[in-house]
Amino acid sequence: MLNESVEKIKGVGKKLAEELAVAGIYTIEDVLLYLPYKYDVLEILPLDELIHEDRVTIVGRILYDPSLSFYGRKKSRLVLTVEVENVAVKAVMFNRAFAKKQLKQGDIVTLTGKWDAHRLQITVSNYRKGALEETAEIQPIYSLKGDITNFKLKKVITQALQDYGKEIEEILPVQYLKEYKLPSRKDTVKMLHFPKGREQLKHSRRRFIFEEFLLFQLKMQLLRKKHREATEGNAQVIHMEKVEQFIGMFPFKLTNAQKTSLKEILIDMQSPFRMNRLLQGDVGSGKTAVAAICLYATLTAGKQGALMVPTEILAEQHYQSLCELFGDFANIKLLTGSVKIRDRREILAGLEMGEIDILIGTHALIQDEVIFNDLGTVIVDEQHRFGVEQRRTLRDKGLNPDVLFMTATPIPRTLAITAFGDMDVSIIDEMPAGRKEIETLWVKENMFERILNFIEKHVAMGEQAYIISPLIEESDKLDIQNAVDLYHQLAEYFPEEIQVGLMHGRLPAEEKDQVMKEFAENEIQVLVSTTVVEVGVNVPNATIMVIYDAERFGLSQLHQLRGRVGRGDKQSYCILIAEPKNEVGKERMSIMTETNNGFELAERDLQLRGPGDFFGKKQSGIPEFKVADMVHDYRALETARKDAQEIVDNNLLTTDEQFLKLYEMLENDSDLNTKLD
Ligand code: ADP
Ligand code: MG
Repeated sequence: MLNESVEKIKGVGKKLAEELAVAGIYTIEDVLLYLPYKYDVLEILPLDELIHEDRVTIVGRILYDPSLSFYGRKKSRLVLTVEVENVAVKAVMFNRAFAKKQLKQGDIVTLTGKWDAHRLQITVSNYRKGALEETAEIQPIYSLKGDITNFKLKKVITQALQDYGKEIEEILPVQYLKEYKLPSRKDTVKMLHFPKGREQLKHSRRRFIFEEFLLFQLKMQLLRKKHREATEGNAQVIHMEKVEQFIGMFPFKLTNAQKTSLKEILIDMQSPFRMNRLLQGDVGSGKTAVAAICLYATLTAGKQGALMVPTEILAEQHYQSLCELFGDFANIKLLTGSVKIRDRREILAGLEMGEIDILIGTHALIQDEVIFNDLGTVIVDEQHRFGVEQRRTLRDKGLNPDVLFMTATPIPRTLAITAFGDMDVSIIDEMPAGRKEIETLWVKENMFERILNFIEKHVAMGEQAYIISPLIEESDKLDIQNAVDLYHQLAEYFPEEIQVGLMHGRLPAEEKDQVMKEFAENEIQVLVSTTVVEVGVNVPNATIMVIYDAERFGLSQLHQLRGRVGRGDKQSYCILIAEPKNEVGKERMSIMTETNNGFELAERDLQLRGPGDFFGKKQSGIPEFKVADMVHDYRALETARKDAQEIVDNNLLTTDEQFLKLYEMLENDSDLNTKLD
């Protein structure tokens, strides 16, 4: 019934149905579940708390019969004096001549409108006789598309609720309703549209939030289960003794956090499940070391490994450090866009023959004609999402490698279980011993000269600096121009013995490499750059990071940039040049100066920016919830996750009748079905 056309609803004709369709409303159920995105709360506040020019609601007694005057053509002005808290308030209504008959001396009225605090006057947009039922009355506000108005929508919804509301079926098992004291789905929908008071609103929201989260988490857990499904031949037979020996060759001892993560990863690799794990760790926490050990472990199992990174610079750096680390243990090759055709052919042949043990490169390395002999493990560095597409590419090649994702963007717990709910997560939450905190300063632009002096002094002591050039929004081209300008300026400013270098995304690959190499070898002391240096490149001798226009960056990105320094044993500094325009901006700069801990920073960033902005618009991978808010409602999210895990682990969806409705909803979820394919 509920899936029948809106035209079934009394009062909805063809025209209105078309208008509703624009808003994505086709069926009766669509109408019922078209929930308000916010509420207008008419709340009675004491007179002296009313804010000038705000929309306010007051309740009072009419002191005299209202006076009506006409002006212009058909225009009218009705004035009444109302007693509120023993004060006479003037109320003005335009073009409501008919109200004169309704409102008499002595009546109680509720008036809503714009408040003039100086004249104690309200310009009424809504009125009604009598007081509000509650001290606060709540009006639903719907998001509107096309020609439909809030008023029309409200009418359709009211009608639909009246005639079809009873048919809304429960989808949650009774045990949850009891345990969490949640109202039925029927009541919930009704109360969400027309809550009688704040308590009802809260109550119904709680229920709906849980429902949204539970469905979402069920999806995630089903995907997770699918990823983990046993696949023949996927258990890697790792030679643990050799791995231990390899670890013994590192010039340092692994931190406990590294050990724990490594253990979790190796267990996955040895299991018949496909690994689908995220390794999170702050910049410099030693993820790369863990990755290297995993790759080595794959080799001991007689398989090949691949390391996928987002940029060529990073690929080269990883290539170099892994070559050093592995020495004769492994045949490692680099495959990027700038590899010459002949070399490329040779690499591809070697790969197919199984002569190459480890392949490093950008995402091109799992595509096209790249054929592995026996790919055991893929490590994906610095990518928030490794798409369904790439997974499919791998599978189309008959490959089911264990996949480990690494990210240095610490993700708040709440987001991790949402955006990455279908993955297992390991966290390196401990820095190698002896690391010095990076001292972070926030200054204004007029300090630039002093910053340059500071840099000069430190360069004289053998250190190096990065300067991130001013940022121009949405314009790569202008960003680069800025970097170029600043570069020339500084080259002129500094004495000859200080070499200034320039780095930006449009430089040809060889030039980038050349610059990076010179910086790494301290032939360049000051590197002016756009944010391209953000990821990964390791120059331990660099101790100063200056960031122009710091207020334009997200905290995570600032933290990432800051992570370019503090990699050696000398004291490092991060100098933020920023003149934030608002409180949030100021707050963000302060947070940067207060903490070096990426996880703490991420939590606070999330609170300031909200989940939508956290990953940037493009790749959030975070679903849109109708009512729920991941940050605000994180406790419900955790509860739902636990319940979902239990449901999926115990196969309740298909074995327990209570879960039948949930099962049906998931069965009909096209998004889930594509992903499960
Ligand atoms: P990430 O990849 O997480 O940014 P890296 O693996 O590049 O971190 O490590 C950063 C630096 O710390 C490297 O120079 C690395 O050799 C060093 N390192 C890694 N693990 C340890 C450890 N347990 N103790 C001391 N130094 C370490
Ligand atoms: Mg495995």
